[in-house]
Amino acid sequence: MNKMCRSLVAAALLVLPTMAVAQPEIPVEEWKGKTIMLVGAHPDDDSMSQGTLALLKANGNDIWIVLITTGNVGTQDPDLSRFELATIRRQEELAALADVGIPEDRYINLGYDDGLLEFEDKKEVVGKLVRLIRKIRPDVLFAFDSGPTYRRWHKSDHRAAAYLTADATRVAMWRLLFEGQIIHEGLKAYRIPEFMFYDSPEEAINTWVDISDYAEAKARARTRYVSQFGPGWDKYEGPDRTPEEQAADEKQALEGLEKVDGKYVEGFRYYKGFPDSMGK
Ligand SMILES: [Zn+2]
Repeated sequence: MNKMCRSLVAAALLVLPTMAVAQPEIPVEEWKGKTIMLVGAHPDDDSMSQGTLALLKANGNDIWIVLITTGNVGTQDPDLSRFELATIRRQEELAALADVGIPEDRYINLGYDDGLLEFEDKKEVVGKLVRLIRKIRPDVLFAFDSGPTYRRWHKSDHRAAAYLTADATRVAMWRLLFEGQIIHEGLKAYRIPEFMFYDSPEEAINTWVDISDYAEAKARARTRYVSQFGPGWDKYEGPDRTPEEQAADEKQALEGLEKVDGKYVEGFRYYKGFPDSMGK
């Protein structure tokens, strides 16, 4: 679907919220008091949803960010070591989260290496995600969209994160899987009731969130990923910028955000139901 078609679909969904597509009963803009958990592969994957996260945080929802890798190979700068890059990306992530109102104690990184997530021990990664799902007990899970039929080509870590997260949501509800967490750690099996899949195939998006009031926060947060978005990808020269440079970066980031009918939006595939059938 080209950008114009996408805009038309987005416009239709904005004006016709009662269309026969799965959407939250209560609009996302009105959610309050929910526990939200986002799972991503890298420290910046959440930037796709940060307008919605800023909105939800401001409305009194509790938001947890769980990222599986440290992002320690995502650079073309030959002078950065893995340790340096992982450290930089933690700082970037925390700065961006601060911009959208999410504190450091809500950021969890599982510490895996960037770039080869699909070759990691799946049972181990799923077990760690299951533990967090059982601890945090989210009302809504934000995750990479594996596609409505679970057949979707993402770049590798995103593909792995999509499937590992979907698998973990199913495992978490079965008390005899990873039962050690239940017997020894006092956790309980848990079924996540609602899902917001991000980075969805364009034709699968069924829910558009109006993030207009939080677009500036999202744009500001995006400028924190200096090592990822911009010249820092090739040559990292630190996070410091003059106020003028910062303002110019924020303006450019704002101009890059998706807009429909004068409103800034983020699109998701919303799903409510049993994790075993969430692709249908
Ligand atoms: Zn990523």
